[in-house]
Amino acid sequence: MTERVDNFSPGPAVMPLSVLEQIQREMISLPGVGSSILEISHRSKAFLDILAEAEANLRRLLGIGANYKVLFLQGGSRLQFSMMPMNLLRDSGKTAEYVVSGSWGEKAAKEAAFEGEARVTWSGKATNYDRLPAWSEVPREANSAYVHITSNETIQGVQFATDPDAGDVPLICDASSDFLHRPVDIDRYGIFYACAQKNAGPSGVTIVVIREDLLDRVPKSVPSMLSYAAYAKENSMQNTPNTFGIYAFMLITRWLERDIGGLAKMLEVNRAKAKLVYDALDGSGGFYRGHAQKDCRSLMNVTFRLPSEEVEKRFVAEAAKENLCELKGHRSVGGIRASIYNAMPMDGAGRLAEFMGEFCRRNG
Ligand SMILES: *Cc1c(COP(=O)(O)O)cnc(C)c1O
Repeated sequence: MTERVDNFSPGPAVMPLSVLEQIQREMISLPGVGSSILEISHRSKAFLDILAEAEANLRRLLGIGANYKVLFLQGGSRLQFSMMPMNLLRDSGKTAEYVVSGSWGEKAAKEAAFEGEARVTWSGKATNYDRLPAWSEVPREANSAYVHITSNETIQGVQFATDPDAGDVPLICDASSDFLHRPVDIDRYGIFYACAQKNAGPSGVTIVVIREDLLDRVPKSVPSMLSYAAYAKENSMQNTPNTFGIYAFMLITRWLERDIGGLAKMLEVNRAKAKLVYDALDGSGGFYRGHAQKDCRSLMNVTFRLPSEEVEKRFVAEAAKENLCELKGHRSVGGIRASIYNAMPMDGAGRLAEFMGEFCRRNG
């Protein structure tokens, strides 16, 4: 087998090695089953046990109360951008509020406009999404269906460090790129959702945590395959769910509980990893320039520029020679993006920080 590299991909992204090894061990035959996860019915006891454990582990990790449903959907977070206004805005006579702090929030707001009145109440676009608002600075609508935020903007690298309070209006959070990276006050949210492929597994499964009372708002005109209420009623099994994705997600939740020791511990580790990289950035005497303003820097996606595009290209190429991979930034921001999700080991972040210091000394 070829050696594993330090993988800074924004997504699909690095997964814990121990989880990959378990998947590999069980790929020919799940213990006690005699077939792999890819070959068994989604109605089998073996799969129903996996689904139940995924939900139970997630409920413990996030402290999800009995008044919430946990759904495992397909179509990625992008489908949620449409499904959400279909279920909660259509025919409501209300306005949906969008706090747009980066490219993903912008896309979410755009899709909502197909279903009804969607208003961008705050946008960071004027400064290329390098900052976040103080919550008190965000204007609010009187007749609101919900408020949508993106907890971590994957492309720009800006992140809400705390849970906003939207009062009686359902707060909806796209947590796709920082899901399970810290404890969350889930009771603040009407819907908390994430695709798995950044911080919690492979692509093809989207986790939607939804407060039960919101299911009563779903209009009759919503087709069942797009209805939160229908998925909740059928325990996410209206049709064949992504059985492999749910299995891998379940193993990740086990890893978070047993190997890491829960989300408070995970946050400590994430802070320590991010500190290594941001210290290398800040200690470079201006050679590296962070994209995000300091008070809203992401613990998951570190975005920065170098003195010129030519030097940036060299940085990416030389890093790759050291097995530090997938560091090229998104074209809308340029420069470098180092994604250091939950599964990025401390050593990997350390090796990147060391390379940054050394590259700066040679080129600065
Ligand atoms: C990746 C990402 C998405 C899109 O996810 P898909 O599963 O590809 O639809 C949406 N929001 C955020 C914040 C993301 O990081």
